[in-house]
Amino acid sequence: MKERTLSIIKPDGVARSLIGEVIKRFEQAGFKIVAMKMVHMTKKEAEGFYAVHKERPFFESLTIFMSSGPAVVMVLEAEDVIAGNRELMGATNYKEAAEGTIRSEFATDIEKNVVHGSDSPETAAFEIAYFFNALELVGGS
Ligand code: UDP
Ligand code: MG
Repeated sequence: MKERTLSIIKPDGVARSLIGEVIKRFEQAGFKIVAMKMVHMTKKEAEGFYAVHKERPFFESLTIFMSSGPAVVMVLEAEDVIAGNRELMGATNYKEAAEGTIRSEFATDIEKNVVHGSDSPETAAFEIAYFFNALELVGGS
């Protein structure tokens, strides 16, 4: 089924000039970009985005990192794109990420792992609406 997911090129990826590298992989995988913009989140905005993790020990550091510089947020559309994007990204911990994945090749730290991707249709819906309104989503095919 055609679905949508939220992708973020995190502040480490933008700072390290990896925007093109990441987008190239999405395009080569056949994902259509149906919305895209650059955002520099405040700490509060990062906390709202990652509210699901607010009890986790890494929450404070993660939200400082996510608000440390500009990020690129995108909505990707394709068949099974939620799982497909997670596969391209690789495991959260880059040391466990499969060879050839974005995190395996470019992450420098379990936190600074270059990309975010939604993990379910429910989180995708919340995350897309967090950054984009309906008028900002173009037809994907
Ligand atoms: N994270 C971290 N330490 C951890 C687990 C996660 O710093 O032990 C950070 C990392 O940047 C990760 C984000 O928190 O991408 C969200 O964690 P999640 O478990 O949702 O991983 P993801 O869905 O991004 O693979
Ligand atoms: Mg997650």
